[in-house]
Amino acid sequence: IMPSKSVPIPDDLEFDTNLFLLPGCYQNDLKSVIIPEGFVRDRVKQLAHEIHEAIGDKPLILLCVLKGSYRFFTTLADELSVARHQCKSAIKVDFIRTKSYEDTASSGKVQIIGLTNQDELKGQNVLIVEDIVDSGLTMSRLVHTLQDLGAKQVWTSVLLSKRITRQVEVPEDFVAFNIPDKFIVGYGLDYNQHFRDLNHICVMSEQGIAKYKS
Ligand code: 5GP
Repeated sequence: IMPSKSVPIPDDLEFDTNLFLLPGCYQNDLKSVIIPEGFVRDRVKQLAHEIHEAIGDKPLILLCVLKGSYRFFTTLADELSVARHQCKSAIKVDFIRTKSYEDTASSGKVQIIGLTNQDELKGQNVLIVEDIVDSGLTMSRLVHTLQDLGAKQVWTSVLLSKRITRQVEVPEDFVAFNIPDKFIVGYGLDYNQHFRDLNHICVMSEQGIAKYKS
């Protein structure tokens, strides 16, 4: 597989929130918009075509890592189906959850929930669809778990890859954006379950962090 051509978001790129239509309830809780929704959607569609070019029309299971990836997942799956219009084997979808974060600091442990049927992924080609890679612990754990479950081939697709030194090296086969080391909310990503419904990828204000602290 060719290294992913992820789009770099510069450290100092932050758009004023007044330039965007934001839910009133979040207006003062956000510091800035980092990636506007339209740009996210465009890039994710492009990523779907990069994925199709790289892995072709093989039978494929798209594995959505809930909850943070739900929007990335639907946009990616929709466009992948467009790219595979001549394909004879259908895409299948599956959903799991991981838990690792409380407030904005990693607990260092990752729990995988939802893989009830242990044989479900045996011998299958699986594309993991994950919202963000930070320390790398979650993705590393996921890849190893899928290999233990007998998956034939495992690829990873990531919406946001943080420019930090990984605690563990993980394969990031398909990356939409490479972002600075900031805590991100929106487009499915949360802060203590808030902001998932926010369309744009944003950074919180001090007020937002304080307001939604657990
Ligand atoms: P890692 O295991 O790579 O340190 O972190 C992966 C998980 O931590 C992600 O799936 C996500 O749930 C959470 N996470 C890491 N960075 C961020 C961030 O900037 N914003 C949000 N909302 N979650 C994050």
